[in-house]
Amino acid sequence: MSAPAPTPPEATTAIDWAAIRAQFPVLERTVHGKPLVYLDSANTGQKPQAVIDAVNEFTAHHNANVSRAVHALGSEATEAYEGARSTLARFLNVRRDELVLCSGTTFALNLVAYSWALPRLKPGDAIVLTRMEHHANIVPWQLVAERTGATIKVAELTPEGELDLDGLWRLLTPEVRLLAFAHVSNVLGTVNPVREICREAAKRGITTVVDGSQAVPHRPVDVAALGCDFYAFTGHKMCGPTGTGGLWGRRELLAQMPPFLGGGEMIKEVRFEGTVFNDPPMRFEAGTPNIAGHIGLAAAAAWLDGVGMAAIEAREQHLLAHANAALTTVPGLRIFGTAREKAAVISFAIAGTHAHDLATLLDLEGIAVRSGQHCAHPLLAWFGVSATCRASLAFYNTEAEIDALVAALHKVRQLLL
Ligand code: PMP
Repeated sequence: MSAPAPTPPEATTAIDWAAIRAQFPVLERTVHGKPLVYLDSANTGQKPQAVIDAVNEFTAHHNANVSRAVHALGSEATEAYEGARSTLARFLNVRRDELVLCSGTTFALNLVAYSWALPRLKPGDAIVLTRMEHHANIVPWQLVAERTGATIKVAELTPEGELDLDGLWRLLTPEVRLLAFAHVSNVLGTVNPVREICREAAKRGITTVVDGSQAVPHRPVDVAALGCDFYAFTGHKMCGPTGTGGLWGRRELLAQMPPFLGGGEMIKEVRFEGTVFNDPPMRFEAGTPNIAGHIGLAAAAAWLDGVGMAAIEAREQHLLAHANAALTTVPGLRIFGTAREKAAVISFAIAGTHAHDLATLLDLEGIAVRSGQHCAHPLLAWFGVSATCRASLAFYNTEAEIDALVAALHKVRQLLL
């Protein structure tokens, strides 16, 4: 795994991060009489005014269903929705006809499970997952394995929370048909070497599915350059509305896949004797989509592009370094996940305290962190803990907010011990 690229100085100095932060209305509010310190962006990200405005503008002035009506509003809605697909395709560097819009990563991964894996896998086949997966990238494969007789193998981690790559290569035996793994871990922040893993999988004819939920909001992602077969992402973590996201898939794979859900929009012709399905991506978009949501998501992508994803990544690396240094002052604090290449997600525990108590007391200080198992039971079990606290940062956070977290941790630790 390569060392993280040094932060280009211009990326952090040329941008007025305070002015960028000021575009997020929710960050102005107080909680329990204290200024909100929002450190839960891995759970869901906050939205800039431009995204809120895009959703409101569509809803107030253009609302109609897509692809059906010939009236003016119907055309405007269709144009805006398909324009959103184009914007998102450009943002990820993929073809627009290979981009299925859906409610987010959970839907996207289930779509691959039900439409690609279920019809193909059979007893004797294997699926490889990793120890650091979110439940959304475990449970759909278990459902497929149960119904097909395929087995699941798990790639393990080093104590630092990096993938044990030699171990992974050993798992990629001839019966493996599919490898599904996170681009970035939502618990450890580990950034996996996606290109290298996809290259090794492709050499062995294994189909790759990448869960990009925690990568797309925080670093430039050129999906075409990764060499994967499917890439899933979720909109609400990248400044977009909830219930948005997508699945990119190689055209030749999408073309072979049967529909996941049936209904309107996904057909060319319906007769009681039989139905002709639409081409991808429409084949996988049955029913009325989240039109306003995806228009908001495209506004988010354009807005992020305006700031610059490389600058966002550099800013967050700077904040992560600040947090890592500041947290060393808290006695008994242990950080889970110290990968060499790591996103700004910090899972931690303080000896003698429970994560939920910590998070509850932090909330009284206005500080929002997540506590629990972070939808990653197998990972927490491997670390031998029942819960951790997780502070997850975004470019709109500040050094002062991290210092507020550390000061509050000193205080609540004393209350609890
Ligand atoms: N994978 C990862 C790594 C995640 O962090 C999340 C969200 N916590 C998901 C999948 C699921 O995303 P969604 O709930 O938006 O479908």
